[in-house]
Amino acid sequence: MLRAAHALTGLVLLLCATGCRPHTPAVHTFSTIHMDTVVEVTLVDADRAHAQALADQVFAIFARVEAEMSRYQGSSTVSALNDHAGQAAWTPISPGLETVLRESLRIAELSGGAFDPTLAEVNRLWAFDEGGHQPDPDSLAVAVSHAGWRALQVDAGRARLDSAGCGVDLGGIAKGYAVDVGADLLVSHGVTGAIVNAGGDMRLIGHRPDGGPWRIGVQHPRDPDGLLEVLRATDCAVVSSGDYERYFIVDGVRYHHIIDPQSGFPAAGCQEVTVVAERAMTADGLATAAFVLGPAAGLDLLRRAGARDGLIVDAGGTIHRLAESAVATTTGGDGATP
Ligand code: ADP
Ligand code: MG
Repeated sequence: MLRAAHALTGLVLLLCATGCRPHTPAVHTFSTIHMDTVVEVTLVDADRAHAQALADQVFAIFARVEAEMSRYQGSSTVSALNDHAGQAAWTPISPGLETVLRESLRIAELSGGAFDPTLAEVNRLWAFDEGGHQPDPDSLAVAVSHAGWRALQVDAGRARLDSAGCGVDLGGIAKGYAVDVGADLLVSHGVTGAIVNAGGDMRLIGHRPDGGPWRIGVQHPRDPDGLLEVLRATDCAVVSSGDYERYFIVDGVRYHHIIDPQSGFPAAGCQEVTVVAERAMTADGLATAAFVLGPAAGLDLLRRAGARDGLIVDAGGTIHRLAESAVATTTGGDGATP
């Protein structure tokens, strides 16, 4: 039984739990690290060398997206945009970055600002990428007052921030975009079965070697070895956001990396959100937004956004489910056993 290499990602790929039939095409898995995350490409392909070549092309996409959209890389376009915050000058952006910024603003508006792509300074103060620590309250208050998605202006081929002290951080959506571009590339090469998984942001393509749908285990937010549910799905995106991925605990309080833009503090309403949608970029942004909104408003957002399915674990551990799910699912039974 295989599990995804990176255990604490919210989602695990379940392969062949009920036994792969003999003489089915082989499944090959390749992984590397980009965007501070394990990126895994799983391919159904008779020829391992061919599969490896395709996976390498997907990894190259992740490297390109990271070099352009990471706020940590001084040479990225996002850093150039942030360096000019509050100035009149526009920064030229690629069509890919324009797509991500426009989708960020769409989800920001749809979620009433729960998703906010301008939290760079707030996130820098929490420093979750370095393990995290409590920020100085005054600095945090200033950073919160300067942030705000309405300061981000996107035009054809260019963008600007009209508030000094405000910075773009696409950590809540860029991984999903890279997954989509990688998955689209595999589809264009005619693959019959594949998964692109960047730390719990997945696109599922086609079918397993035995012809069945892919099976994705939704990890229990408080038990790394437990699964809440198994989703059976294909040709869609499945994305999880959780408070157990990047966090630290002080005096029994868990501080994690999904921030309520209004307070500048970690959002308190959920432990985990999983979203099924057509595109990983959309699912990624929606999962982060729904996490901030909490179970009731979060499910309402997913419904309004046209998500195919959604599962929200609230702060008390209760599971809330998007009604009228279009995706066949099971709780327990054979599927829940990894
Ligand atoms: P992960 O990338 O770990 O799967 P998310 O997709 O939920 O988790 O993204 C969390 C990241 O998004 C944070 O590390 C930060 O960069 C950014 N972020 C945090 N809070 C918000 C928010 N309210 N809106 C948009 N982005 C956010
Ligand atoms: Mg996200």
